Amino acid sequence: MTERTLPQSLQEIASCVNGYDPKSLPVAQAREFIARLVPRVRAVEMLALRSALGRVLARDVVSPIDVPAHDNSAMDGYALRGSDLAADGDTLLQVAGSVFAGQAGQAEPASAAPGECVRIMTGAVMPAGLDTVVPQEFVKVEGDRIAVPAGVVRAGDNRRLAGEDLARGEVALAAGRVLRPADLGMLASLGQAEVPVWRRLRVAFFSTGDELRSIGEALPAGCVYDSNRYTLWGMLVRLDVELIDLGVVRDDPEALAAAFRAAARDADAVITSGGVSVGEADHTKAVMASLGDVLFWRIAMRPGRPMAIGRIGNADNADGHHAILFGLPGNPVAVMVTFYALVRDALLAMSGATAHALPMLRAASTAAIRKKPGRTEYQRGIVTRADGGDWQVRITGSQGSGILRSMSEANGLVVLHHAQGNVAAGELVDVLPFDGLI
Ligand code: AMP
Ligand code: MG
Repeated sequence: MTERTLPQSLQEIASCVNGYDPKSLPVAQAREFIARLVPRVRAVEMLALRSALGRVLARDVVSPIDVPAHDNSAMDGYALRGSDLAADGDTLLQVAGSVFAGQAGQAEPASAAPGECVRIMTGAVMPAGLDTVVPQEFVKVEGDRIAVPAGVVRAGDNRRLAGEDLARGEVALAAGRVLRPADLGMLASLGQAEVPVWRRLRVAFFSTGDELRSIGEALPAGCVYDSNRYTLWGMLVRLDVELIDLGVVRDDPEALAAAFRAAARDADAVITSGGVSVGEADHTKAVMASLGDVLFWRIAMRPGRPMAIGRIGNADNADGHHAILFGLPGNPVAVMVTFYALVRDALLAMSGATAHALPMLRAASTAAIRKKPGRTEYQRGIVTRADGGDWQVRITGSQGSGILRSMSEANGLVVLHHAQGNVAAGELVDVLPFDGLI
């Protein structure tokens, strides 16, 4: 279930966004609007640890124990009293016994008198009174005695403290976190077999346009194969959402209305491509407007410009359930760029994930780039390391918004910001690398 409180109207949201201008909307304002628009999933499910990889934690996880539970050795060597160490010359110590990992409680001896040490293995509990471990490679063993040369170890070295990884009562992982491999390991270290996660976001998507054919069909003159559903599918799979593929919907008011109704019934969000340009001859915009509360934007970005945003309702739903509409442009590159610039973070927020900005590289442009201030441009680039080790970026061939090859060849998007002007050769630019986009 999505949020049940009465949502703000689109007009109310717009009035909260400084500098809102639907005819030329800066990317930052579009993102702010969308962040205010989207609700978050509410249902929580308990999942076994391994099933929770990539899912969003729904509650803070508080550590029920200290990890590690006891002070223990970080090395194979000899546990000793730091105060026994001589400032100069060798420190001679009697080896009073040995202790291995997993032997807590039965360690023998559990303590040692001054002038004594205990042979200890990595992970073994520190015997009472001993606070330092000298790695075995530093000592000279003479029968049941060792000599520790001066300066090889300081008091307190090589001892892991109880609770130094996670202290009992401390928030180990905060709600809103997308669970990564390290997090699964950390939860396991707390003995946690299951974790509460938000239910998966359900996202419906379809392509619109009478010129589109599905793969497997013949391609008559003037038609193109529908590629957007495949790029969208790929980008959505990476976000770990539940997918509802509604196919290619022909330019027919009833077929479009049926697809939107199905989406509003079953999905939290619906993503379409095509049919939202100004002067578009088909029915997509009219059907969107008739089924919900929808705005048609011209965004100050390239590629991308036209986009529909809003809520698509469903008269059949007594509870007023609606889906958030992301009506993306049809051009294949524009679909991907608007998805990364505007949709991805919104879907993560809907999934319950706390905001996390994607890391960008600063790379030197190998050539001059023409850029008009007053819009954000996303050029496709290939990032490599220059001889000196610094990052450099080369724009991939033609940047037409229909040329998907520019995207396929690229390994990152060069982000030329709203106010930025022409870029000189060698100048540093921001690049969003594709690797690491979850
Ligand atoms: P539109 O936004 O509907 O005006 O479409 C812009 C351009 O993108 C047109 O050349 C369309 O043929 C193309 N296009 C729209 N949807 C798709 C799609 N699903 N797959 C490939 N190309 C598309
Ligand atoms: Mg069209």
